[in-house]
Amino acid sequence: MSADTPEFTPDVAIIGAGPAGLMAAEVIASAGRTVAVYERMPTPARKLLLAGRGGLNLTHSEPVDAFTGRYGEQAGRFADLLSGFSPADLRAWAEGLGIETFVGSSGRVFPVQMKASTLVRAWLRRLDGLGVTLHARHRWLGWDGQGALRFRTPDGTESTVAPRATLLALGGASWPRTGSDGTWTELLAARGVEVAPLRPSNMGFEVPWSDHLRERFAGQPVKSVGLAFGDRRLKGEFVITETGIEGGAVYALSAPLRDAIEREGWATLTLDLLPDQTESAIAKRLGRRGAESLSTFLKKAFSLTGPRAALLREFAPAADLSDPAALARHIKALPVILTGVRPIERAISTAGGVRFSEVDDTLMLTRLPSTFVAGEMLDWEAPTGGYLLQGCFAMGVRVGKGVLRYLGP
Ligand SMILES: Cc1cc2nc3c(=O)[nH]c(=O)nc-3n(C[C@H](O)[C@H](O)[C@H](O)COP(=O)(O)OP(=O)(O)OC[C@H]3O[C@@H](n4cnc5c(N)ncnc54)[C@H](O)[C@@H]3O)c2cc1C
Repeated sequence: MSADTPEFTPDVAIIGAGPAGLMAAEVIASAGRTVAVYERMPTPARKLLLAGRGGLNLTHSEPVDAFTGRYGEQAGRFADLLSGFSPADLRAWAEGLGIETFVGSSGRVFPVQMKASTLVRAWLRRLDGLGVTLHARHRWLGWDGQGALRFRTPDGTESTVAPRATLLALGGASWPRTGSDGTWTELLAARGVEVAPLRPSNMGFEVPWSDHLRERFAGQPVKSVGLAFGDRRLKGEFVITETGIEGGAVYALSAPLRDAIEREGWATLTLDLLPDQTESAIAKRLGRRGAESLSTFLKKAFSLTGPRAALLREFAPAADLSDPAALARHIKALPVILTGVRPIERAISTAGGVRFSEVDDTLMLTRLPSTFVAGEMLDWEAPTGGYLLQGCFAMGVRVGKGVLRYLGP
């Protein structure tokens, strides 16, 4: 995209240069409309670039029913959105930018290079070719008395723009240093738009570790364990942190755990330290320990060492360690009490946002005709696994088409 150009009035102003906003810019500019993108940060797509640091998980390869089920209460809505831009469409789009993708062993889809920077560079070049202009360091401040958009510009002054249509694609409130700080909630609420409180999603939890566990094991992964909460159980890995736990398997259960902590003040996550063995087989084997020390035996018989063994010592009552049946029970169902939710600033994504009841099926705000919203700023959540980006891209396509329909022929 070309950098700041002299102010002009575009057909469409898109505020927020993340995946949702840029995808809409591509759809709208491809149809010949003039598009200006306003972004408060000095460069676009910072969260997408950050996502690429740990391996950019663009989407997932699972069947569409399972895929849309990941959006929970909003499954039906996302089935509709994904029918307009599917995981296969997303892979084809990336490949059109010269970014080959592959399906990892977990079914997740990644660019071959794993990172986001090459994709973002190619995408910005395409948008530039379509005539999309980028106004970086432009912070949206709301509307003036005539309904024009107000921006704080790089030189500290204010400017206004009155396009025919506006797309707000301002993101959630996680990792605010990428630019998405959630301050837009007040601007929309002031115009009567109903916004569900922003809450962390896909985040870590607090566990009151003993000094020993924190000092010896913070930063270490706990691999191949079972995790259960309520009727949800899965196998995976997580990381012990200074303050608690985080990582893929924890994020997958994070929504119901968060809701329980909000209700009760705490939640019990149950760990299965040997998910491939039965409790009775473990008890039988423990019964044959003899005079060997427990840690040596756990290591030899079950390869139960390091952080997994430390978790067992942390949470199983000392009196049960020498009772094979009781110890086997703790190995298979070790309760870990979570006492808090890590702050939204450290979460992967955001739950809450503009309620879907506020938008029509093109994502136009019914209270503010000509203003559309898309991406993480709407009220939905999904686990990690490519579902977040797929959702944002699909909304970008939907809203782009909606804006074109609104503008008319
Ligand atoms: C560490 C991390 C890793 C992740 N990994 C993955 C992954 O592998 N796969 C996946 O699917 N998802 C992943 N995500 C989530 C994914 O990046 C987000 O869901 C996605 O970027 C949201 O897109 P968006 O366009 O809605 O908003 P954003 O990408 O947040 O973009 C919004 C933009 O709006 C701008 N903005 C905000 N307020 C204003 C204002 N007032 N004026 C002007 N501009 C403003 C912001 O600066 C920002 O650039 C990850 C997130 C994080 C934090």
